Amino acid sequence: MVKWRDRRQSRNVEDRRGAAAAGGAGVLFMLLRFIFGRFGIRGVILIGLVGVGLYMAGVDPLRLIQGGPAATEAAPAEDDETSQFVRAVLAETEDVWGRLFAAQGSEYPEPTLVMFSGDVVSGCGYASSSAGPFYCPADRKLYLDAGFFRELARRFGAPGDFAAAYVIAHEVGHHVQTVTGISDEVRSAQAKARSEPEINALQVRMELQADCYAGVWAHHADRYGDFLDDGDIEEGLRAAAAIGDDTLQRGAGREVTPENFTHGTSAQRQRWFTAGYRLGDPAGCDTFSAQGL
Ligand SMILES: [Zn+2]
Repeated sequence: MVKWRDRRQSRNVEDRRGAAAAGGAGVLFMLLRFIFGRFGIRGVILIGLVGVGLYMAGVDPLRLIQGGPAATEAAPAEDDETSQFVRAVLAETEDVWGRLFAAQGSEYPEPTLVMFSGDVVSGCGYASSSAGPFYCPADRKLYLDAGFFRELARRFGAPGDFAAAYVIAHEVGHHVQTVTGISDEVRSAQAKARSEPEINALQVRMELQADCYAGVWAHHADRYGDFLDDGDIEEGLRAAAAIGDDTLQRGAGREVTPENFTHGTSAQRQRWFTAGYRLGDPAGCDTFSAQGL
């Protein structure tokens, strides 16, 4: 189990759980458009009058609208265990990558992590709570969805929380790829690629590098941060195996088709996580010039 209690907590966390993605104004706009479409301008005027009436009676009509779908999901306490865990893991990634960047004479630009439930509007577009964790290069933010937190909650108090830390470290790996310019290079290579399998092959190398970076983080968090416990690395390897493309395709009852892989096989993901963990050096994560993966 990750030793996350009583640790430094990152302040680069936006807790948007329980917040509606569109916000009051967005919902109001959609509502008015619907009424206009159905009842014409008279409907809109009538709704406007009702709104003014409510406002004069001391009720904020915008609050009523906002309280709709979002209210069913209770807003969690700012300082619950999930949030503390996420902040502690993110802080540990900041410490490790801060040191690694400093060793190269540069400064690590810390990413922001957004926790959300329901849905979210990111710099990369709209995402639902079933999206799975992702990193958006456009706004340099990590997004963690409600499903991720449910899984995390299920594992609390059980040996299994390193898997969640590994997921966060992997997304931080994508952030590192973005700030070092690797992501841009891959995107332009993908733009020049002639086929879908070629684009996917580049994507696989990108994902395996993020796994390797997660391993680099684990190396430093373990050796110098005293953040990990016995069994955590094995747990990370199990997590890496569970999300390999071949395992996922087989689990979905589909044929294993390597040309459709976007993240690499279970064995490859384990291998690159291990490579990063053993060496503790991001220079050892050059999945792009590696002959075999
Ligand atoms: Zn990834």
